[in-house]
Amino acid sequence: MQRFFIPPDSLQRRPVTLRGAEARHLIHVLRLRSGDTVTLLDGGGKAYRAEILSCRKQTVTFRIIAPIPAGGESFLRITVAQAFLKVGKMDTSIRQLTELGVHRWLPFVSRRSVARPGGPRLATRRRRWHEIAMSAVKQCGRSRVPEITPLPSLEAVLAAATGSDLKIIFWEKEPVCFAPRVAQTAAGCCRRVFVLIGPEGGFEEGEVQSALECGFSGAGLGPRILRAETAAVTACALVQYVLGDMGPRAACAAEE
Ligand code: SAH
Repeated sequence: MQRFFIPPDSLQRRPVTLRGAEARHLIHVLRLRSGDTVTLLDGGGKAYRAEILSCRKQTVTFRIIAPIPAGGESFLRITVAQAFLKVGKMDTSIRQLTELGVHRWLPFVSRRSVARPGGPRLATRRRRWHEIAMSAVKQCGRSRVPEITPLPSLEAVLAAATGSDLKIIFWEKEPVCFAPRVAQTAAGCCRRVFVLIGPEGGFEEGEVQSALECGFSGAGLGPRILRAETAAVTACALVQYVLGDMGPRAACAAEE
């Protein structure tokens, strides 16, 4: 069934009304009509089956039939803090990390970050990343759009990691790989996992030291140096595999 995002406050009013790009897509591209049923997503994890009542120009009204299980979300709450990269690479990262199921994405300025967007440019990029994440959510069957919060420094990232069950800084000079590191540090259940990835030029040693002092463990991704955007996706998939989100536990967790 076709899935559309609708602002949560529109779901409170009657009739439930959709406008803008999503409505235009429904009417003019997908050519749905009154009587058709669709899935409406509020972007925060709730989903509803709804019947189209009317389609006029750029406005669609619906009757909500019933809430439905949203699905597609990970039982892990993975945050990926990723040092700013060039524009195209950040776009790729947020799309791929959304498909994998990350809960939160924190692009940040690290000491060796070449790209350092700020002000209106950053606001424009943030809107663009949100749109990329929304379309990835629709495509991959998730129900929640990851939170995207740019941060000005590593210090702000370390503060945002407070309260996580497992905090890992991926560093190419770290000889211990991720899986044995988790076995050592977090034998129990972890849900809130915080992953830290550096920029194209890598972390400075002092940055790694600061993270370790804040309770992060270092982990390697094998004997090859990965590009930062490859490292982010690999780290996320590894965390999910090792902690059970890509195996049998994933199905059980979805029902919890
Ligand atoms: N400039 C560095 C590599 C940076 S790679 C160099 O050329 O030596 C960019 C980021 O990806 C790193 O900061 C790290 O977070 C991650 N990364 C890449 N390869 C890795 C590996 N083998 N192990 C752990 N992290 C890695």
